[in-house]
Amino acid sequence: MKVFKFGGASVNSADAVRNMAQVVQSHLESKPLMVVVSAMGKTTNLLEKLVPGSADVSSANTLRQQLEVYHLDIAKSLIPNDKTIIKKIQDLLHQLDNTIVSLQPDAAHYNYNYDQVVSFGEIISTTIIAEYLNHLGINTLWSDARQLIQTDNHYREGRVDWQASETATKTLLADSITHSVILTQGFIGGTVDHKTTTLGREGSDYSAAILAYCLNAESVTIWKDVPGFLNADPKFFADTVKISQIPYNEAIELAYYGASVIHPKTVKPIQNKGIPLFIRSFITPEAEGSSIGDYKTIVPETPLYIFKNNQILLSILPRDYSFIAEDNLQVIFGILSKIGIRVNLMQNSALSFSICIDNNPQLVTPLIEELKSMFRVRYNENLQLITIRYYTQEVIDSIVAGRPILLEQRSRTTEQLIVPA
Ligand code: ASP
Ligand code: MG
Repeated sequence: MKVFKFGGASVNSADAVRNMAQVVQSHLESKPLMVVVSAMGKTTNLLEKLVPGSADVSSANTLRQQLEVYHLDIAKSLIPNDKTIIKKIQDLLHQLDNTIVSLQPDAAHYNYNYDQVVSFGEIISTTIIAEYLNHLGINTLWSDARQLIQTDNHYREGRVDWQASETATKTLLADSITHSVILTQGFIGGTVDHKTTTLGREGSDYSAAILAYCLNAESVTIWKDVPGFLNADPKFFADTVKISQIPYNEAIELAYYGASVIHPKTVKPIQNKGIPLFIRSFITPEAEGSSIGDYKTIVPETPLYIFKNNQILLSILPRDYSFIAEDNLQVIFGILSKIGIRVNLMQNSALSFSICIDNNPQLVTPLIEELKSMFRVRYNENLQLITIRYYTQEVIDSIVAGRPILLEQRSRTTEQLIVPA
């Protein structure tokens, strides 16, 4: 069995859905095909604003209206004059409204509320797409990912119960061999007591990997708007090179450093079962793309670049000018972990400890506040963190382009630099 994943950009309009359906249709040689789909376009961002207790509730009515018009327009264009699809969407939107009013809007419930509301994006998108595929004559089963991917109740970052998910997924498969396509939602899962969870933003890739693991799939294909795994984000870089083969561990390292091509948790489950992962373009679906698998090296061998903007570099110094010792580090890491901050790069010297983190004021402000009660804190903003795998000095020089380097770390394979953006 093969697993396909289509992200929000691949289903963001009626034309995009038509194109996606064509890709599906041309890959039905081994049935059923498991298809995992995200919310349409930027729907998740919109739904985030409808979560009770989110900062932006003033525009809730307008946003709710926007959500309805967007999905109804797509549905009407895909299947003109069809009452069933309209009714299904309206029923789901009523369910969403009822869900929103039933939730307790306090901060303590925020993560729970988030999952109950935001998950509607995927439920609505897959409902429309399942209707459309069936309308085209592709025998499609809509399957509820909340019953397939079983998680604990860690809302917004559900942790997968692999055994329960495997059992649920295999039961589904036994019931669906007559179908051409099994269509399910990315990003969402469910708890034992039937509460909806999500797997973290951009988590649909991870959903595809979980299902592939549970089904012992033959491969996973992520259909994207780029021709494959590029050696740099084309937003930052003019002459990108497509990497055609990537070893599993290299993909994990790249995701760790912030390469945004695939969700960081995606690779581990498929690596454990030796399932290859293909990244292909839904714009040029005949083209070969990239594959992540059991390879020794990347092909072609070329430097890989990862840029992270909007970084802040904090230097933390003890108030009494004593050395930064292990007990200070323990305190600092305790605070970081409590606030939920991920450190992108760190370095210590005799008198200070420096960390480079994403400059998200909601997290950085309380961090600095808390650190200041024990340490002196200095910081530098508007920085860029550049990671170069397989660097050469020439490559580093051309990327730095004469900018002052605030911090630099080099290993045999990887160079990391912090420079003004
Ligand atoms: N719709 C979710 C998001 O935008 C999940 C995904 O697209 O992977 O984060
Ligand atoms: Mg998305």
